[in-house]
Amino acid sequence: MSYREFLHRVPKAELHCHVVSTIRPQRLLDWAAERGVALPTRDLAALSTYRGLADFLAVFNAAHAVFRTPQDLALVAYEGVADAVASSNLRYREHTVNPDAFSPQGFALADVLDGLTAGLRRAEEEFGVGFGVVVALQRGRDLATAEALLDGVLALGRPEVVGFGQDDLAASGLEAATDWAPVYARAAAAGLRRTAHVGEIATASAASVLQAWDVLGLDRVDHGYHVLDDEECVRGALERGVRFDVTPVSAHLLSGWPLDAAHPVARMLRAGLDVNLSTDDETFFATSLATEYEHVGLGMGFGPDVVERLCRAGVEAAFCDESTREHLREAFSAQLHALRGELL
Ligand SMILES: [Zn+2]
Repeated sequence: MSYREFLHRVPKAELHCHVVSTIRPQRLLDWAAERGVALPTRDLAALSTYRGLADFLAVFNAAHAVFRTPQDLALVAYEGVADAVASSNLRYREHTVNPDAFSPQGFALADVLDGLTAGLRRAEEEFGVGFGVVVALQRGRDLATAEALLDGVLALGRPEVVGFGQDDLAASGLEAATDWAPVYARAAAAGLRRTAHVGEIATASAASVLQAWDVLGLDRVDHGYHVLDDEECVRGALERGVRFDVTPVSAHLLSGWPLDAAHPVARMLRAGLDVNLSTDDETFFATSLATEYEHVGLGMGFGPDVVERLCRAGVEAAFCDESTREHLREAFSAQLHALRGELL
């Protein structure tokens, strides 16, 4: 077996995946045409060409408007898992969803969560891929909106919702992760795990990553690349055991970092930080989980030990219960052992 094939076949747990971004490209274009939704482009190749995060978010936010029913969400979620199983040997995934982005189409919170979980249950039964749902607040809206979202989530009490996170950017164009401290404190008290998008964009500081970790009581950080800008902050992240859900292709397309040994993910790995790999927005960045692993193994030049570390980090950082984690550990160990034995 070639190293490329090994990278494709290793068992994978994905933790930073915006579910709308797993829509099949043709389905996005078809639904947009049928349903009269204006996308910024109808050119599939142009979908993965952006002039920065704000430009990408215009496409991402517009994509929410093609959904009409809970069944649409179920279908997209199901197909997204099916495709990732086929391309990347996906074994577990946490799906981030921003319910406030669906409300203009008339979706109640229960429609969003129940549609999504119906599709994910079907995929779990068919492919054995476990899942959790991370509900994301919309940073472009105000604290009262985020509080109402959390109230709704807690009132529904769906067991599939395991985490609370963030989506979009603040209206200022900044990350402003700690603006949401009150709602995160309530999410923590209610037993939800916490993650936040921070340290991603050019204006983010290294210190902002640690501030978000401390102030929001995070369990994981989505992105976090700018922690590398300050040695002291890297040490702080190591001391705290910060877990980073990183996405090489997304960082390349939105921030221009090359997909080689100079990429922040490569530097984070060399610094010994705890990172796991995800796609972020698979369809919009024309990537797959296997492609992300390929960039680490081939583009960045890391060998099978580091790849195995990444696979296992996804399991350890998951917001699943401990019996699920133990089951995943055993399954991953068996598969990794067998695959390494086949490696040329
Ligand atoms: Zn993201």
